[in-house]
Amino acid sequence: MSNLPNCPKCNSAYVYEDGAFLVCPECAHEWAHETESESDEKVVKDSNGNILQDGDSVSVIKDLKIKGTSSVIKIGTKVKGIRLVEGDHDIDCKIDGFGAMKLKSEFVKKI
Ligand SMILES: [Zn+2]
Repeated sequence: MSNLPNCPKCNSAYVYEDGAFLVCPECAHEWAHETESESDEKVVKDSNGNILQDGDSVSVIKDLKIKGTSSVIKIGTKVKGIRLVEGDHDIDCKIDGFGAMKLKSEFVKKI
């Protein structure tokens, strides 16, 4: 029962299901209940708020130290063909000279 969203109008948590609809008892707002196509697909955005997709090319917006090494991925490094993954570091990619890498989307911008 706790998986229902809050009311989009008044943000009430006391939303209940009524058939295919969700109903808010506080402001009487009703809206369609999206059961099937759960749109929980994570949207990954770059530092500018642009939505990133698999296969995009990005550039690094700050020097990134690679853990456990003295290597640094320099600002402006271009990364082609990124792949979005779950997790704290949400971009999986290969960087020339570095190999397979995981980056955070907040440190890149789409190019
Ligand atoms: Zn409401």
